[in-house]
Amino acid sequence: MSDRRLKFWGWGHEDQTLSEAEARAIATRVGGLTGLAPEGYIAPPELGEISLAAPRLKAPETLSSICSTSDYDRAAHTYGKSYPDYIRAYARDFSAAPDMVTFPESEQDVTALLDWADGADAAVIPFGCGSTVVGGIEPVVGDGFKAVLTIDMRRMAKVLEIDPVARAARIQAGVLGPNLEAQLKPSGLTLRHFPQSFEFSTLGGWIATRSGGHFATLYTHIDELVESMRSVTPSGVMESRRLPGSGAGPSPDRLMIGSEGSLGIITEAWMRLQQKPTFRASAAVKFDSFESAAEGIRAVAQAGLWPSNCRLVDAEETKLAGAGDGSFHMVVLGFESGDHPIDAWMARALECVRDQGGRIDAAGERDSVADAWREAFISAPFKREGLISCGLMHDTFETSITWDRLADFHANVKAATHEIIKRATGAPGHVSCRFTHAYTDGCAPYFTLHAKPTPGREMEQWKEIKTAASDALIREGGTITHHHAVGRDHMPWYGAQRPELMGEALQAVKARLDPKGLLNPGVIVPVQR
Ligand SMILES: Cc1cc2nc3c(=O)[nH]c(=O)nc-3n(C[C@H](O)[C@H](O)[C@H](O)COP(=O)(O)OP(=O)(O)OC[C@H]3O[C@@H](n4cnc5c(N)ncnc54)[C@H](O)[C@@H]3O)c2cc1C
Repeated sequence: MSDRRLKFWGWGHEDQTLSEAEARAIATRVGGLTGLAPEGYIAPPELGEISLAAPRLKAPETLSSICSTSDYDRAAHTYGKSYPDYIRAYARDFSAAPDMVTFPESEQDVTALLDWADGADAAVIPFGCGSTVVGGIEPVVGDGFKAVLTIDMRRMAKVLEIDPVARAARIQAGVLGPNLEAQLKPSGLTLRHFPQSFEFSTLGGWIATRSGGHFATLYTHIDELVESMRSVTPSGVMESRRLPGSGAGPSPDRLMIGSEGSLGIITEAWMRLQQKPTFRASAAVKFDSFESAAEGIRAVAQAGLWPSNCRLVDAEETKLAGAGDGSFHMVVLGFESGDHPIDAWMARALECVRDQGGRIDAAGERDSVADAWREAFISAPFKREGLISCGLMHDTFETSITWDRLADFHANVKAATHEIIKRATGAPGHVSCRFTHAYTDGCAPYFTLHAKPTPGREMEQWKEIKTAASDALIREGGTITHHHAVGRDHMPWYGAQRPELMGEALQAVKARLDPKGLLNPGVIVPVQR
């Protein structure tokens, strides 16, 4: 683990906090582009400004070296990184902090912690790096428990074995993205899974939430990269067999992948690796209409070319990213291979988008547009903190939909979001869209909203907007999440989306693996007590 300390209230390290001047400059720029005037400035919280309730747990002697009740640790495990998380952190409200944070160094430690939690009647929150944007690690568990214990997996961060023949590695769940790739580097292999949160999220978190990497086609979700895995549950250890594929009944991996800490604690997994790419090509393509850009993406996705990048960024978002002037929608295409030149694939993809009216700039210009978009993508989480500090609401929600329903879906969800922003805040907001992933049968639209909430009413207004936007996603036939997970925030819509009988079956599975309902209560399965 790095010696640099992570912010207890936000994204990245403490030394990456924006100054007031930087925050104001970002808010002024975005305010100018969205028509929303920033107002005031709230400084990020200092530890000395918050007060936490006395911890209700005392570590047993045998576990005391891996347990902490320090204010920093408890505060840093209270929230994820969503807009409402920031609002409460900026209000210096850490009333939901866990009683204790623990840092297991081995699977035996995890088992011992679960045993102890069971005896102490404490709810257990599995924790990767807290990058959840859906309330996945928030210690809000109802009144049925005597205390809350968070299990932070980041001390279990080793690549334990590499199999160069099958190209797979056995990796501990608590490893952060950059450390994982650094350990694989000498082998020349890579996991090649890059969510936008790569730097500050863990392998276990990715598997637990079915994360989506930024590769836009083919291996979009972590699911495809898991060869086998091992989890500790209150009822024992569950480990699956290493296999390239199996038709033997429902997959044990698929039961745990996406269980979001509600069924067990993932301790390690065998992950499929790939050769590092050495051949690369990218292009940015401009379109006059959103619809023809979407048709361009569909044509590429259905051509079997499997580009690593295949994104549509609408005109408003292109402008916000500093990659355009708002007069065109952009499709970003990228190909990579560690094995063969990809020029023929790129040439065919460019034919597909040209056929739909795409314009391809000369190489120099298209590189600068693609670079501007990439830089905006990486710096976005830091900039968002500046906007929130200066009184602007910034939130995102994402989904997926089949191509045949896309046009109406996009129009109706966007209209519903505009309408609710106006109703909730009394003023128009700004809503933009990009496609993060493309499939043969559909795509994953990702909406970004900006609004100007009333000071002091941010939580209430955010809830109104979130509810109406989520209702629209489900009403219009989409999913409540393509890759941000369910957490606590999406439970009502997850309940509406999944078959009722499956919900009941999941409860039965939970009752077998976690009979006292200790693990992440309220996530995936409703609180049982
Ligand atoms: C700026 C930003 C960008 C993001 N971009 C993406 C993106 O591109 N793609 C994407 O998919 N998501 C993205 N996310 C969401 C988030 O990063 C993912 O959900 C990520 O997988 C969470 O990993 P984590 O290690 O931080 O887990 P945490 O946030 O700590 O936990 C998430 C959930 O997983 C459970 N969990 C964590 N570790 C374990 C474990 N070892 N065993 C069992 N359960 C566990 C927790 O209990 C919780 O329910 C983004 C978030 C932010 C803030």
